[in-house]
Amino acid sequence: METVCPLCNGMADIDQRCPRCGGKMVDGGALENYLGPYSPYLDVDSFNYGLPNKQCVHLLFCPACGYDSRTATSLVTI
Ligand SMILES: [Zn+2]
Ligand SMILES: [Zn+2]
Repeated sequence: METVCPLCNGMADIDQRCPRCGGKMVDGGALENYLGPYSPYLDVDSFNYGLPNKQCVHLLFCPACGYDSRTATSLVTI
């Protein structure tokens, strides 16, 4: 048994539309890949406070207009 992020492992697709132009959002990868796991700018513990499960935060972006957002994906046990 292992707890993994379905997006990081290619088990799920992003299914979100850009709120600005309606284009399909693309997964830019886990946020910690950008900031590093010990970045002072991303306090994962406080972000996850009160949530039942650990989550993996991904950066989504719209290739059409450049809009970007973050989404928290619940980890799954496989
Ligand atoms: Zn992930
Ligand atoms: Zn867009």
